[in-house]
Amino acid sequence: MVKIPDKMKAYCPKCKTHREMRVRQEKTSRRGGGLGRSARQEKRRRRGYGNQGRYSKKPVTQTKMASKTSRKIDLRLECPECKKKWVMNRPRAKRVEFVKIL
Ligand SMILES: [Zn+2]
Repeated sequence: MVKIPDKMKAYCPKCKTHREMRVRQEKTSRRGGGLGRSARQEKRRRRGYGNQGRYSKKPVTQTKMASKTSRKIDLRLECPECKKKWVMNRPRAKRVEFVKIL
């Protein structure tokens, strides 16, 4: 568990000043269905024949990346004035907790 302050002082390049920024974790969005239209068509076309091409193997995420137990978290800073967002340097963590600083 990594504790991260939910507000941080950072430089906004648009306002050109240091401000208190809101910190948020960006959630990964997954495309519905997993595959695009042409990819689905190709998968259907290859079904029933010997070599399935790139669909013969399981995805890399299931085999090679299993050695790592934590993942890099995607932290975004948001300027309260101009609503500009950008990515902060990302630490590795299993879980993130946002801590309020008084
Ligand atoms: Zn700003």
